[in-house]
Amino acid sequence: MKMHAWALRLALGGLVGACQTAGTDPAPHAECVRETRNAGSPPNIVVLFADDMGWGDVGCYEGSQCQTPNIDRLAREGLRLTSFYVAAPACSPSRAALLTGCYPVRVGVPEVLGPKSPTGLAPSEETLAELLRERGYTTAMVGKWHLGDAPAMLPTAQGFDSWTGLPYSNDMWPWHYGDPERGVIGNPNWPDLPLFDGGQVTQLNPNQDSLTPLYTKRALEFLDAHVHAQGNAQAASPFFLYYAFSHPHVPIAASERFRGKSGQGLYADMILEIDDAVGQVVAKLEELGLAQNTWVVFTSDNGPWTRFGDHAGTTGPWRGDKGTCFEGGMRMPCVVWAPGQMVAGRTSDQVTTAMDLVPTVAALTGARLPSRPIDGVDQSALWTGRGELPIPGPFFYYYPSELHAVRVGRWKLHAPHPFRKVVTPGQGGYPGEQTFVQVERSLYDLEADPGETTNVAASHPEIVRRLERELERARVELGDSLVGRKGRAVRPAGKAQ
Ligand code: MG
Repeated sequence: MKMHAWALRLALGGLVGACQTAGTDPAPHAECVRETRNAGSPPNIVVLFADDMGWGDVGCYEGSQCQTPNIDRLAREGLRLTSFYVAAPACSPSRAALLTGCYPVRVGVPEVLGPKSPTGLAPSEETLAELLRERGYTTAMVGKWHLGDAPAMLPTAQGFDSWTGLPYSNDMWPWHYGDPERGVIGNPNWPDLPLFDGGQVTQLNPNQDSLTPLYTKRALEFLDAHVHAQGNAQAASPFFLYYAFSHPHVPIAASERFRGKSGQGLYADMILEIDDAVGQVVAKLEELGLAQNTWVVFTSDNGPWTRFGDHAGTTGPWRGDKGTCFEGGMRMPCVVWAPGQMVAGRTSDQVTTAMDLVPTVAALTGARLPSRPIDGVDQSALWTGRGELPIPGPFFYYYPSELHAVRVGRWKLHAPHPFRKVVTPGQGGYPGEQTFVQVERSLYDLEADPGETTNVAASHPEIVRRLERELERARVELGDSLVGRKGRAVRPAGKAQ
């Protein structure tokens, strides 16, 4: 396998050797890899990206309370990752990392963007869509963008040939969860929420329960049209489909077909609908004869927003949630599926991140890498089940541009930092009370103590020192606003004109 040289990458060799995590656990009857791709025909890529869907919202993950038969099937037939991290516990920065292969602070998108944002993902950054389009791919997006709503920063200006969806979160509209009677202020200053479809705004403030059905319809139409326009699946040029759900982010919704279906309430109904959308996309790939030459990845942008109580998901065994750098905010369910191209039925605890998507897809497709430094690592050996896995480097937990923690192997060190903690979970779509709490410098053993409950720093001073050195190296490179440091390698955000 080709190994790329990751200039300026934060994988820092000496430290990690002794601490690397377990590799993959093949299922007892794992299939042998069958190479079925046509020579010279790079594989199609489908990325399914949920919004605020927690570890505990996916049936095949420990502690789940939801039914997701379609995602579970992909896990059974593919690869289920259990130490997969997004690069931020919130929407915009997580998406910036997914599409650029970089820590959000590196590309100037560390915070959640609002409507009419003065900044966004700089057009000079090279997105996965741009890299694949240059490789000859047709690129399509459905769903939530949230990387800048100025025209020069929308999906169709950042590498996607087509886009149907929302420019930012589905709660960023005048009916934002305000309720004067309960003392909760909405946001009357936010503009009507535009739905883009076919290159123009076709609706304002669309019904929330229409979004997933519309996105799925457009995704299936794209697949049909792509194949039919070129005769058949074998003749078709490769494609990249990025399906970014607007849900289960609040305000939650399920269409009529799914309301009441789970027997567990509206949130679980909505998860069933998202899972059904995954199933429909996969069924279409199979119907069109594309499945044998397509990689499908399903994950979520950050942990559940538990402040919303019964309108939020769960984190399984992990502490914290959206907006925090505890595991519940950033360790996500992630399933990779590519029948015929991978060793099937595996679970891996290898540390891997959403930033790895860009270099991994580049390795699988022959696309080039971005010309400027990235932070992701080629995980194609992990995805395929062939070849030597890269030694995991340190993973840094940033939010927004504060460096909160680092993980190396089983150890995670939190720097002293404030985090938001839910005091009273909300109900019925309204947020509960939250407060900010300070976490002290804390060392957690994620293998012995996955819930980050017991600070063992005093017992392991040498490990603390080693991880402190890693934090410092990240501060030099990417900065840390907690201590007023600017990184030498950060690049500017895009500016709305
Ligand atoms: Mg989110």
